[in-house]
Amino acid sequence: MNATLERESNEESNEAAKPILFISDLHLDPGRPAIIELFLQFLASDARNAEKLFILGDLFEAWIGDDAVPATHPVLSGLRALTDSGVPVSIMRGNRDFLLGEAFARNTGAELIDDPTCVTLSGERVLLMHGDSLCIDDVDYQAFRRMVHDPVWQRDFLARTIPERMALASQARKESSARNAELAGSSQGEAIMDVNPDAVIATMREHGVRRLIHGHTHRPAIHDMRIDNDTATRIVLGDWYDQGSVLIHSPGHWELKGLPTRHG
Ligand code: MN
Repeated sequence: MNATLERESNEESNEAAKPILFISDLHLDPGRPAIIELFLQFLASDARNAEKLFILGDLFEAWIGDDAVPATHPVLSGLRALTDSGVPVSIMRGNRDFLLGEAFARNTGAELIDDPTCVTLSGERVLLMHGDSLCIDDVDYQAFRRMVHDPVWQRDFLARTIPERMALASQARKESSARNAELAGSSQGEAIMDVNPDAVIATMREHGVRRLIHGHTHRPAIHDMRIDNDTATRIVLGDWYDQGSVLIHSPGHWELKGLPTRHG
């Protein structure tokens, strides 16, 4: 690269700070090809111009082990193309894809981050979570979560054949959607499936943050709140069922935006 071009590209990058993008709950599944297409488009367009991309859990509807998906899978190649282009991608495991592992990270060039993770953005400490661990009123779910996060359970599960794992995962999804449908029918169920407000405040206090970003509940919103005598903010990312959803951050600016699918 010659000196002139180099200077121009530096000037360009100083002109407007590139945004940091946050997404979650894409629930990518072969049964919803339009959403996969939308995500691949997003990776090749908006995400290319980002400073960094955070995916806060449930990128996939199900993930039964890195060995069950070839590295040539379009979603993995799309992520790889993005990281190869120089955009760092950090991925947190969600309650659906909690078995994302090191091979997945190697194949995509993405970094797996813990739930929760604290980051500093524009000088502010921000807590990132998937969100399921805040739904403490859902006692049955929390018991299930403890079970599947147990390293022994995970080792046993991953030692099974791929067809065995597929059968177990499909059974678990059936049970969970039956239970969610039952809960969604009642006003009490709606509250049970949301985050517990006391757990939110306790978690934010524990980490000394006044901003939390999470997904999982599929209730996108920017909530102003108070913690002790401070103002605080909880940002909930949207799911990608009927359309895409992205949180865009640049210094002093937080915006939740929908991404329409090509077919409406
Ligand atoms: Mn989730």
